[in-house]
Amino acid sequence: MLAIQGDVREHMRHIQRAGAESSLVRVVRDLEDVQGLIIPGGESTTIGMLMDEYGLIDALRERTQRGPFPIYGTCAGLILLATTVIGKSPARLGLVDIDASRNAFGRQLASFEVDLDIPVLGRAPFPAVFIRAPQIQRLGRTVTPLAWYRGQAVMAEAGPYLVSAFHPEMSDDVRIHQYFVEKVRRSLTVKGVS
Ligand code: GLN
Repeated sequence: MLAIQGDVREHMRHIQRAGAESSLVRVVRDLEDVQGLIIPGGESTTIGMLMDEYGLIDALRERTQRGPFPIYGTCAGLILLATTVIGKSPARLGLVDIDASRNAFGRQLASFEVDLDIPVLGRAPFPAVFIRAPQIQRLGRTVTPLAWYRGQAVMAEAGPYLVSAFHPEMSDDVRIHQYFVEKVRRSLTVKGVS
């Protein structure tokens, strides 16, 4: 769990409920102990700047080049994973071929909750909380949309990477964390670790 800003504790609780373990990642050394990373929401300019300062951007790029390393970016985390950012563009990883537009839902819709249909999670709708969320304005060919809201993709995946414009840790539903844990487990099998 990237522990620079955001709902670190809530994410960790969800991961635990999803049957996996998590630890805090603040400095490059912390990456040695983890098989995947969640980037919580917050303020992408601040998170990107500190990640860069701590050497985490370079270290993560290097790690992802060595082999599949699952990363889930929520909200600001989505912005940090995007190849292109519309609006003030923060230092970032740029690993998912999407155009992300910051704070794009407008004032009235700045924060809202909506039940989303996310087929990969099963039939029950997922209660998604959006807080000054980014919009995905373009999906590259390597990116698969997993959920839509008002005609726009709000959750997507590309190889080992997962992004959502909303905050899954703010609801009681742990299915997205379970989905990510499965992704991490699968990447370990591919690498022959377990
Ligand atoms: N608006 C924030 C940004 O652009 C993202 C908001 C969030 O993570 N909840 O960085």
